[in-house]
Amino acid sequence: MSKRDYYEVLGVDKNADDKQLKSAYRKLAMKYHPDRNPDNKEAEEKFKEANEAYEILSDSEKRNLYDRFGHAGVNQNAGAGGGFNGFGGDFGGGFGFEDIFDSFFGGGGSRRGPRRRGPSKGSDIEVNVTIDFLDAANGVAKEIEYLRTEDCEVCSGTGAKAGSGKKTCPTCNGSGEVRYAQRSLFGQSISVKECDTCHGTGEVVEEPCDTCKGHGRVKKRRKIEIKIPAGVDNGNVMTLRGEGNLGFKGGPRGDVYVSIKVRPHEIFEREGENIYLRIPITFPQAALGDELIVPTIDGKVKYKIEAGTQNATSFKLKGKGFPYLNGYGRGDMYVKVVIEVPTELTDAQKKLIMDLDKELNENSYKKRTSFMDKMKNLFS
Ligand SMILES: [Zn+2]
Ligand SMILES: [Zn+2]
Repeated sequence: MSKRDYYEVLGVDKNADDKQLKSAYRKLAMKYHPDRNPDNKEAEEKFKEANEAYEILSDSEKRNLYDRFGHAGVNQNAGAGGGFNGFGGDFGGGFGFEDIFDSFFGGGGSRRGPRRRGPSKGSDIEVNVTIDFLDAANGVAKEIEYLRTEDCEVCSGTGAKAGSGKKTCPTCNGSGEVRYAQRSLFGQSISVKECDTCHGTGEVVEEPCDTCKGHGRVKKRRKIEIKIPAGVDNGNVMTLRGEGNLGFKGGPRGDVYVSIKVRPHEIFEREGENIYLRIPITFPQAALGDELIVPTIDGKVKYKIEAGTQNATSFKLKGKGFPYLNGYGRGDMYVKVVIEVPTELTDAQKKLIMDLDKELNENSYKKRTSFMDKMKNLFS
């Protein structure tokens, strides 16, 4: 069995451009598609042949090789009928056939038969909650409120009006599936999907329940209290398993994702489990030393700064940070003192500072004195 010329397969001439190739291929693919020709060996062969021809000719590099060397140039197994597997297998070449066929079949639909859904989990619900900084540190109980599906109480979830039974679904005539036309790269194709009216069961209620309109379920507002653990951070998400929407055909409820936002604090800053705080102090406090009152997330603590504390000096309060989520221990707190230079001085105040300055000497400013010495060396 000798291999046919690829141009001949697609029925185009040697100078065909991409558009012509695609159009020719499309026609053939539609005509010989296995979905339209079940159990037709010849059609399957033609389909494969067209795929192969298009794969080569639509790739300029491969097309070039083919033009120069024929089948031998592009296919090691040329003499043996091609290296392409059956449909759904590896068409090779990174051409993305699978992608094209996925869209063609609407995600692998009819060839594998419609997927009748078994029990499936209900959908998840996202709830946002905003808490204060200190609540994030200590943990907090918070009420959340959201809408979720519940069985309709009036019809007990059957969707049927009292005294009414079930009948064959008029949309699908009881098959539970419907055929529908789909447009794709290849034009229109026919696919099969689960019937929306009966959700694949093939049956609908004779007379729908007024409350749920036959759905058997209604949206209800739900309030629950949740315990937000100490240590949560902005952007953390808590999962409440089985608190979401009702499942289908006996499947479990979905989950609720509680997305937590933490309000920033006026003076504390958080990074991971550590807290950062800047405390403004006065020049006399820095010069003479003082006992500072330091706020922490547990309340106030006292901290002694030495006489001669320099600007931007940091100290660490061990274990005064956030607790680790789901773990033991806590982060630390880093406190930085920042000397605030007085502003809006009166003449009297200015004079006092000048007087002080006159009293101070080289010894009072060790860093500055050392710096000046080095500068002198630089220019001498
Ligand atoms: Zn139906
Ligand atoms: Zn109902």
